[in-house]
Amino acid sequence: MNECRHTDRLGAYHDGEMSGPERAELQVHLQGCARCSAELAQLEQLSETLRAAARPALSGAALARLHRSADRQTMTPILHMAELFLAVAASILLVAGAWLFLQTQTHEASAETPSWDTVATTSLDTAATVQDPSLQWIDEVFSEEGGQ
Ligand SMILES: [Zn+2]
Repeated sequence: MNECRHTDRLGAYHDGEMSGPERAELQVHLQGCARCSAELAQLEQLSETLRAAARPALSGAALARLHRSADRQTMTPILHMAELFLAVAASILLVAGAWLFLQTQTHEASAETPSWDTVATTSLDTAATVQDPSLQWIDEVFSEEGGQ
């Protein structure tokens, strides 16, 4: 049997992975080439055998089981990622909430300086006078920055 350069493309032709013009060209070739016709017939027979063998094995409950296990396989990492994301988001919310709380406290503590020009012309250590003992550290930080 003599070799033909078209035999490599028979797989793509058989699987329908070939473009229109290329397919038409090969169809013409198949009519005149015994080698390719035989090869294609073998391919069709092989795929039909595979289909017939695969059909009963992957039907009904077995197929459903396969689908379920495939779903679990793909869903598990996604669920883990979602849990991790939620945990991180919750942590960020907690930190942001605490920060906002502190910001509000600081703002209230320095509320005795009402207008922007007073704030701008007053040095930090006198502007931020913190009465709340739990927030005394803010006063200390400001004193360190403003005082010499
Ligand atoms: Zn050929």
